[in-house]
Amino acid sequence: MRVRFMALLASLALVPAMAAAESPRLLATIGMIADPAARMAGDCVQVETLVGPGLDPHVYQPRPSDIERLRAADRVVALGLGLEGRLGDVLARTGAVILGDAVDPDALLQADGSPDPHIWMDPTLWSAVLPGLADTLIELAPDCADRITARRADEEARFAALDAWAEDSLHSIPEAQRVLLTAHDAFAYFARRYEVETLAIQGISTESEPSIAVIDSLAREAAERAIPAAFIETTLNPRAVRALIEATQSRGHDLAQGGALYSDALGEPGSGADSYLGMIVSNVTTITEALGGTPAALPEALDLD
Ligand SMILES: [Zn+2]
Repeated sequence: MRVRFMALLASLALVPAMAAAESPRLLATIGMIADPAARMAGDCVQVETLVGPGLDPHVYQPRPSDIERLRAADRVVALGLGLEGRLGDVLARTGAVILGDAVDPDALLQADGSPDPHIWMDPTLWSAVLPGLADTLIELAPDCADRITARRADEEARFAALDAWAEDSLHSIPEAQRVLLTAHDAFAYFARRYEVETLAIQGISTESEPSIAVIDSLAREAAERAIPAAFIETTLNPRAVRALIEATQSRGHDLAQGGALYSDALGEPGSGADSYLGMIVSNVTTITEALGGTPAALPEALDLD
């Protein structure tokens, strides 16, 4: 009996360590994919992010250590739609799952003949990548299928609660002030969903340099329309937005720096924006407060921790 008890103890002690060592590895290009993937995966799949906090996926160049991580992963998941511009060849070689391919083309916005990749800015649209992501996890860990499917339903419910909260919050901004002035054009889906107008210094990618002429014409518009604030982005140098604020102030309108938005990457651990929901909650709160609205109370269903 004692022997059996010891054997049982030993097997119990071994189970978590073995599970961790043996669970397959999923490498996601961006945190907005990795976070819901990790929530759905639980202990069944290890999930990692390639392009971390503060890094810009449009211009990200893989480092030698990244190539190793890409090779070691059991599956790589990317958004596609042109987001991971310089990773395209590497992703093709690793046979990455491209979640953007599953999004209804009619739901995509176009900019200069290319699809706008920033679909995570609309939680109802980002919810559309969850089934493909869950299927990928289930392929890697078929024994966990039921649990992953149940957690997928939880995620879909959280995304819906997030969307309702964001709408309530943003609609508290007086209509004439619902203008989102940012460094690059990452907010078109956000704008479409929540009836906010967007103005940006750069287009949907950040590969070109900001233009002085564009800054000048935005400054004139911001002054004429008395736009309350302009926002910097955590993945971009704030220089262009600062230049815009100065140019607007020299025209006699006190354009405020409205705070930092998480456009193309999650925040650092502990920032509160280190999860997909946290990122959107942070952006909506920052925008609502800077433009004269009041954020709604956070629903418990968001389950932010
Ligand atoms: Zn972007």
